Amino acid sequence: MSYSEIIRKQNDFFNSNQTKDIGFRIEQLRKLKALLKSSESVLYEAIYADFKKSEFDTYSTELNIIYQDIEESIKKLPKWSRRKKVRTNLVNLPGRSYIISEPLGVCLVIGAWNYPYQLTLSPLVAAIASGNTVVLKPSEVSPATSAVLARLINASFPPELMVVVEGGILETTALLDQKFDKIFFTGSSRVGKIVYRAAAKNLTPVTLELSGKSPAIVTSNSNLKEVAKRIVWAKFLNSGQTCIAPDYVLVAESVREELLLLLKSQIIKNNYSFENGNYVQIINESNFNRLRCLIDANRIYHGGETDLQNRYIAPTLLTGVSFDDQVMESEIFGPILPVISYSDLNDAIGKIKSGSKPLACYIFANDKTIRNKLLNEISFGGGAVNDALMHFTNSNLPFGGVGSSGIGNYHGEAGFKTFSHFKSILNKPFWLEPNLKYPPYSNRKLAWIKRLIGK
Ligand code: NAD
Repeated sequence: MSYSEIIRKQNDFFNSNQTKDIGFRIEQLRKLKALLKSSESVLYEAIYADFKKSEFDTYSTELNIIYQDIEESIKKLPKWSRRKKVRTNLVNLPGRSYIISEPLGVCLVIGAWNYPYQLTLSPLVAAIASGNTVVLKPSEVSPATSAVLARLINASFPPELMVVVEGGILETTALLDQKFDKIFFTGSSRVGKIVYRAAAKNLTPVTLELSGKSPAIVTSNSNLKEVAKRIVWAKFLNSGQTCIAPDYVLVAESVREELLLLLKSQIIKNNYSFENGNYVQIINESNFNRLRCLIDANRIYHGGETDLQNRYIAPTLLTGVSFDDQVMESEIFGPILPVISYSDLNDAIGKIKSGSKPLACYIFANDKTIRNKLLNEISFGGGAVNDALMHFTNSNLPFGGVGSSGIGNYHGEAGFKTFSHFKSILNKPFWLEPNLKYPPYSNRKLAWIKRLIGK
């Protein structure tokens, strides 16, 4: 089927109003969960083939999140989609005012490879829960997971409701030429701009989940041992190929040495390896080569070993790094952690603010005043105080970037809102019609208007 035919069919199906029914949406979500549950073994095989991601990591960072999204949507859909009454202003009394949510229509979801299930299926769940139809385009960079998603979903759901289209730049460009009612994109800021341009042609609304350099700020007054444990886990999970991984550490000069020792011993303790199931391959050779070039041998504090054949890069700590170094130019997106010290917190804030707005920021500080100063002065998508990454798992926290790290957000109710339009309605009875607004105008009418609504 050509892309235009798929979209025509989805449009027709959407216009049949079947997706407006909450029961229908819940049924599809249940079906999707059952499909994933019964296919877990092939999902694990595919992701292992792509980059040796273990069952433990796949379940805990991908499937489990999707299952939770589905369950939450099923449970809360009636509430989320309920007509919401709002107050009516004086001049419209005795009318009533309310907001009705409605699905947007035919949605395009473009995913990234680094969490190939979660980053495609979580938006899919939100789009279906909101009553849309979906064309899903996983990343070609993780070909096995893309293929398994296509095989499973296309065999189980009608293409007029949801369909997986596989492909790379060529296919995505052709898809972007079509007219959608919503485009939800996860990927780099570079490609995000391409998607935004394509969407603008049809004034299609977009959600762009993009990238950035997310700092972890470690102040002098924090529980360094716990800090090191949390930063190391967040950074080296998925071998650093996580959009919200701490990209680099900014640490108070007075505790730099202590933190470095703790980071190193935590890395050693975690014993990262493919065999232990807690480390993954770098996704492909070009990313491997890109990352290898970022490891300046003179700056290695720990790690630095690489193995092209296995696409392995050891968890690496760099010191003596300055903001002018190549590793600080753009998002690292791999297991390399520069640790940079600061002596003046305001300088550190200035450095962060001189770059693009980060997708995440992690603030490690026991001092509430300092925490609040950092939260107040730095703009970033979202983040955590005294932790890293875990904000992602709370579906009550809308997830998304700001500035070049993204537009819009999702997760939980935010996902429902992202794929919905909110129609504002004023509903008036006929039994009362004050004539103030109608001609002929008079000074007496104006006096009444001033008295009733004038400020
Ligand atoms: P990418 O931008 O290269 O690709 C993302 C998607 O865009 C893929 O499906 C790909 O096929 C498509 N694409 C690539 N080039 C294209 C082009 N020229 N025209 C049209 N479509 C194109 O990103 P990636 O390498 O798959 O993922 C890694 C990036 O994604 C990192 O920068 C990471 O920070 C970011 N990311 C962001 C989030 C988030 O939630 N904000 C999550 C994961 C990854």
